[in-house]
Amino acid sequence: MGVNQELKIIHRSYGIADRYDNGTIEINKNLEKYPELKSAIIRHEIKHTNNPRFNKKDFLHDLEAPEQLKLFTLIKFIFKHPLSLVQFLPAYYTRKKGLVLDLNLIVIYSVVLSVLSTGIVLGFVL
Ligand SMILES: [Zn+2]
Repeated sequence: MGVNQELKIIHRSYGIADRYDNGTIEINKNLEKYPELKSAIIRHEIKHTNNPRFNKKDFLHDLEAPEQLKLFTLIKFIFKHPLSLVQFLPAYYTRKKGLVLDLNLIVIYSVVLSVLSTGIVLGFVL
C-alpha cells in the first residue's frame, strides 16, 4: 500500500479483521463498540504486507498478534460475538467471495496436527 493511498475500512458481520492485497481492511462491525481493540486490530492489519501469498513476515506477525491485541479483550469480544470465530477457520465460503483460504492458519494447523500425530504414533510405538 502506498503512503498516499487512503486506508479503506469495510465493515462485515463475521470474523475479526483481514487485510486484502489492495490495501482494504475488513473488520467486524461489532468492533465499533470496542474502540481500543479496534485500533489495536487496525494497527496489526496495517503492518501486514500486501503479499497475498504465504510469507514468513506475515506469518511471524500473526504469531505476535495475541500480545499485540490484549488477548483478554479479544476473548471477551469473541464470546459476545461468536461469528468472529470464523476468523480461526483455515477456509470458509461466502457467496460474494467464494472460497476464502487463510494460508497462515493452514500452515499453523498443519504444524500442530503433524506434531500431535507424531506424538500419538510415538505413544503407540514406545
Ligand atoms: Zn494478522
